[in-house]
Amino acid sequence: MIYFSTNKSSIPVSIKKATLEGLAPDGGLYIPSEIPHFSPEEIALLEGATFNNIAFAIAKKFIGGEIPLDQLSDMIESCYPFQTPIVKLDSQTFIEELFCGPTLAFKDYGARFLARLTGYFAAEEEKLITVLVATSGDTGSAVAYGFQGIPNTRVVLLYPSGKVSRLQEQQLTTAGGNVYALEVQGDFDDCQRMVKQAFIDPGLKKWLTLTSANSINISRLIPQSFYYAWAALQLKELYGYNEPLFSVPSGNYGNLTAGVLAKRMGFPIGHFIAASNANDSVTRYLDDGRYDPRPTITTRSTAMDVGNPSNFARLNYFYGNSNVSMGKDITGIAVSDEETLAAIRLVYDRFGYIMDPHTAVAFRALERYRASISPQKKAGIVLSTAHPAKFLEVLQHALDKEIEIPARLLDVLEKKKKATTISSEYSELASFLNELNESP
Ligand SMILES: *Cc1c(COP(=O)(O)O)cnc(C)c1O
Repeated sequence: MIYFSTNKSSIPVSIKKATLEGLAPDGGLYIPSEIPHFSPEEIALLEGATFNNIAFAIAKKFIGGEIPLDQLSDMIESCYPFQTPIVKLDSQTFIEELFCGPTLAFKDYGARFLARLTGYFAAEEEKLITVLVATSGDTGSAVAYGFQGIPNTRVVLLYPSGKVSRLQEQQLTTAGGNVYALEVQGDFDDCQRMVKQAFIDPGLKKWLTLTSANSINISRLIPQSFYYAWAALQLKELYGYNEPLFSVPSGNYGNLTAGVLAKRMGFPIGHFIAASNANDSVTRYLDDGRYDPRPTITTRSTAMDVGNPSNFARLNYFYGNSNVSMGKDITGIAVSDEETLAAIRLVYDRFGYIMDPHTAVAFRALERYRASISPQKKAGIVLSTAHPAKFLEVLQHALDKEIEIPARLLDVLEKKKKATTISSEYSELASFLNELNESP
């Protein structure tokens, strides 16, 4: 399988190069030259299979040939030692809980796979890869825990001092080992500027192999298709439902793009609901065909506060730059903060189930979508992207109730923070990286 750029002016590359490079040299995003297909017989054989078996079947089609299959299989086992539960709310409504990994958010699915693949390819090239990430919270922690202890890799995280939650800061600063946290005296934009400068600094390039781990990397995207295939097959196996709806809480639209991959592979998936908050650039595009990104608005579902989503380029490519053909598979629904809080309350009152605010956006969007179709009863899966305990303030506001904090979150809160404080001058990042290189 070869991978080419959405901008079409870079030469096609192998998965190894696409993984280690992240972004294509022409500024586009890598996509597979063709989306692998599963025949109905192959799909039937996967009904009733475990999550990891389904993941392996998919990974094999995308990257088999580049990695011995026994090693690919081991890699998947070590990526996903946790469950992916599908909770039934009522006869038609299901929640797929994607928050059972170490950082209690769905980004673990992509980051853990990317980390192992990067480690494998780095070892093959006999290189030490340095992953440089600017983070405002969740991506950084998934990357820190994903790469923790992976040979041939190390991670340098930049986060804005005082601008991430205490829990996020603990997750960013306590992984240790090959993970280094830099507390920057500045804001997220400063962190991002410094990281960008490092990538083009010829002084660093001589001895440092830098890569990024944000959601543009194709190897973070492929593994996110696993849980769509799993949920669609489970609904068939356990409840006899075919082609359920998927409602996806969206920010950079990587999650939704992975769903489109799974559908094109041939898994029994119906329509997608692209649920957004007030940051509705894609929703508006689906309505009128004009892509007119606006500055980011802060909402109660902060991880979805993205004004100009990076994966829009891939989605648009898949649908031939046409909002009409995209609309055949995807309906965009924007949900307000008031509706989000009301949905958290409604689901708690009706089912005793506590949703995080991002999940609540997708739940509300599914309700609104169903109200617009006929017949309205259609099986739907809401992707739950974070554990509610990660967003205690919003939940306490919505529910006026103490939220139970899982033991593994409490553990993180007790660990000792280890971070190096630097100013927002680029030279301080450069000297940190230089010193890192000189230490063993
Ligand atoms: C990152 C994130 C999202 C948005 O996912 P995208 O792939 O960027 O669309 C939604 N919910 C949570 C909790 C997240 O951390």
